Amino acid sequence: MMTKALPQHPPMAQFQVKGIDLIVGGIELTRLVARVGKTPFYVYDRQLITDRVMALRQQMPPDLKIHYAMKANPMPAVVQHMANIVDGFDLASAGEMKVALDTTMPVEHISMAGPGKRPAELMQAIAAGITLNVESSTELETIAQLSLQSGIQARVAVRINPAFELKASGMKMGGGPKQFGIDEELLPEVLKRIKTLNLDFQGFHIYSGSQNLKAESIIDAQQKSIDLAIRLSDFCPTPIKTLNIGGGYGIPYFPGDMPLDSQQVGDALAVAMDKFQVIQPQAEVIIELGRYLVGEAGIYVCRVIDKKISRGQVFLVVDGGLHHHLAASGNFGQVIRKNYPVAIGNKMKSQEKEIVNIVGPLCTPLDILADRMELPVADIGDLIVVFQSGAYGYSASPHYFLSQPETEQILL
Ligand SMILES: *Cc1c(COP(=O)(O)O)cnc(C)c1O
Repeated sequence: MMTKALPQHPPMAQFQVKGIDLIVGGIELTRLVARVGKTPFYVYDRQLITDRVMALRQQMPPDLKIHYAMKANPMPAVVQHMANIVDGFDLASAGEMKVALDTTMPVEHISMAGPGKRPAELMQAIAAGITLNVESSTELETIAQLSLQSGIQARVAVRINPAFELKASGMKMGGGPKQFGIDEELLPEVLKRIKTLNLDFQGFHIYSGSQNLKAESIIDAQQKSIDLAIRLSDFCPTPIKTLNIGGGYGIPYFPGDMPLDSQQVGDALAVAMDKFQVIQPQAEVIIELGRYLVGEAGIYVCRVIDKKISRGQVFLVVDGGLHHHLAASGNFGQVIRKNYPVAIGNKMKSQEKEIVNIVGPLCTPLDILADRMELPVADIGDLIVVFQSGAYGYSASPHYFLSQPETEQILL
């Protein structure tokens, strides 16, 4: 019986090919593997990250601030690179704060969000001078107390759980009952309370979702976020200094995914920002992006260690897998498993192809990197490349599962 290939991806045009090799950061993959000295590893191309940020600046309104959401890729070298090219950082933990504070990014442009911030973390953030995006009334009171005890005035913004949601999103983080932010309808009360506390009020943070490829959905959420901030303006203790309207810009992973039309988003945002700046002329408008800035600039590289046939299907067994790259295995929030784009990195020009499954070394059927993909015929020793791996790869994976050797990360 013939096995049919699942739908194919378009070529990953951000990386060049030289001879038979994929090029990353100007280096042939086989040479890079020799330099690293082992597989598997992640490699990120800093030029691709810079190009993405520069292209985005062309498309977005000139006075929009672009922040990097560090949880997408918190590798210290990547974060320092981002410090040179974006306007601020958004953090999700004190661990990320440590990495951020080691860079050249000024603290005034760093904020921290996330539910369940412990008092010790809040105190660290207050002492550092970064902005805390407040996620609940309890958190607000704790911050006020810590501020009073330490004599250091905390900078706070209120994270709002809006009444709307980001439509057609990979992951919804606003609208309905949520652990994130304070419900929109409670804001007048909360802002009244802030007026009585000795806190440095910055403004609002509205983050409604992630991995969205539809310009209309993002435009809709951005406009609603700005309208919400306008409605709340009268309740604020001081004029709004910062309005963080979230992000959610997605990247194409799967066959059929169309890249986001970011120009369309930028054009609509310019109109919405003009409206906001009439009412709050001193305010900075911020978007925070993780995946969109770094996701396409990274690959995961592993090596074929066995090739076997089972009941007519070819299996390439590789030295990496789910434990390093949970998302590519399909176990990081996917409902129906789809293949990430994959290539044989040292056989980019081969015309002879076959349908293969690529599986990792873990003793679980979940450890899949490719399911029935048509790829150049590969042998033991060949290099498997998983594209779109610059975000939610290394740091979002269960490295200790099955006690396999560790992987590493390179920035070129
Ligand atoms: C995760 C997260 C982001 C980044 O999301 P991406 O999809 O990587 O752009 C931004 N802001 C907040 C509050 C987040 O939780």
